[in-house]
Amino acid sequence: MANKAYQNLHINFDQSDYNAVLASFNTTSFSGKSPVIGEYESVIANYFGSQHALACCNGTVAIELALRGLGIKPGSRVALPPTAPIMTILPIITAGCVPVFCDVSALSFSPDLVHLQTLHREQPIAALIVVPMWGYPLEMRAVVETCRALDIRLVEDCAHAFGTQSDGQYLGTFGDVSCFSTHERKMVSTGEGGFCLTNDESVYERMLSWQQHGLKPASRTSQYLLGEDIGTNYKLPPLCAALGINQFSRLDRKLAERRERVAKMRKALAAIPTICEFPRHQHAEVNGYAMVYYHLNGSSVAQGERMLTQGVMSDTTRYRYKPLYHEPAFTQYASACPNAEHIIDTIFTVPCHEGLDDGDIDYIVSVVNDNFQC
Ligand SMILES: *Cc1c(COP(=O)(O)O)cnc(C)c1O
Repeated sequence: MANKAYQNLHINFDQSDYNAVLASFNTTSFSGKSPVIGEYESVIANYFGSQHALACCNGTVAIELALRGLGIKPGSRVALPPTAPIMTILPIITAGCVPVFCDVSALSFSPDLVHLQTLHREQPIAALIVVPMWGYPLEMRAVVETCRALDIRLVEDCAHAFGTQSDGQYLGTFGDVSCFSTHERKMVSTGEGGFCLTNDESVYERMLSWQQHGLKPASRTSQYLLGEDIGTNYKLPPLCAALGINQFSRLDRKLAERRERVAKMRKALAAIPTICEFPRHQHAEVNGYAMVYYHLNGSSVAQGERMLTQGVMSDTTRYRYKPLYHEPAFTQYASACPNAEHIIDTIFTVPCHEGLDDGDIDYIVSVVNDNFQC
C-alpha cells in the first residue's frame, strides 16, 4: 500500500473529454479569442448564475485580475487569511498591493470580522480575500455585510469550492469578484486554467482589458483598439476551454459521487474519539474536494507524517502547511493570528474523491484510526 499514496488528486479524463478537445481544433480561430472561449464563459456564468465569467490562464492570475478589475491601487492594503496557500498572496504582491493578515474565526476558515475591523481602523483595508479551504462552507452573509459597511471590496478565492453552498447559495456568488482555478487538482480540470465571476459590468471590462493587452471597447466605433491602455496577456488557450466545457457538464455527477464517499468516510471516522470533523457553517454539505478533521488532543503534524509512510497523504503534510507568514518570502507581513495557527497545527485532510472504492475507504479509515488512538 505504501507506494501508492492515497491523496487529494484524481485526474480522471474520460472519452467525452478527449472528444471535446478533438472537436475544438479549429483552423480559422485558434487563439485565446476563439469562439470556444465565449462558449466556455457562458457555461460557467450559467452554472453560477453570474452576469459575467472571464476565463483566464490560471487561478493565481484570476486573483490579480480581480484586484485590477476592482481598481485596487498599488500600495493599497489587501487582507487575507494565514490559512490560505501561496497562490492567494502572490497576486496581491504582483498587483503592487500590501498583504495584511486577518485571522480566521475559531475553528473556521471564515475571517474574524472583529480582527478585520481593527485592521481597517488602523489603516483602511481596500479589499478582503476569503478562502474556503478544502471547500468547507463559510459564514458568507456576515462577511458580505461587514465588507459593505466598511466599504471593503470582497474577493472569493474559490479554487477549492466548486459546488459548495453557504447560506443557501454557491460560494463564488457572494464576492464583488470570485476567482476559481482549474488546475489538475481542482474539481473542474483543464490542466492549467482559471476564471473570474462578477456581476459588475465595469469591473468585468477592466479585468478583460488587463487580460488582453490593454484592450478597450472603443466608445464610438464599437471596434476594439489596442494601445490606449496597458495590460498583459492572461488568456486561456481554446483547447483548455473545450475541455472545461465538458468538465463542467460532469461536475454535478462528480459532486454526487464525492458526497457518497464523504458520507461513508464521515460515518466511519465518527467512531474515532480523538478526532472531529472540521465545523461546517450551518452544517451545509462540503463538495468533497477533501475532508478536513482536527485532532482534539493537540498537533496532528507527526500523525500526518506517519500516515504518509502508510500511503495516506494529508494535504497539510503534502505542502507542509504553515501560517503563510511563516514562509520566508512573507515574514515581513507577519502578525499574530492565533486561531489560524491553532487550525493549521491540529487539522489534517482525508481524500474522498470519486476514484476511491469501499476497500480504499476502509484502508484510509484504518490508517487514520492507527494514528489517532487515545
Ligand atoms: C489552486 C489554487 C489557486 C490557484 O492556483 P493556480 O495553480 O494558479 O491555478 C488559488 N487559490 C487556491 C486556494 C488554490 O488552491
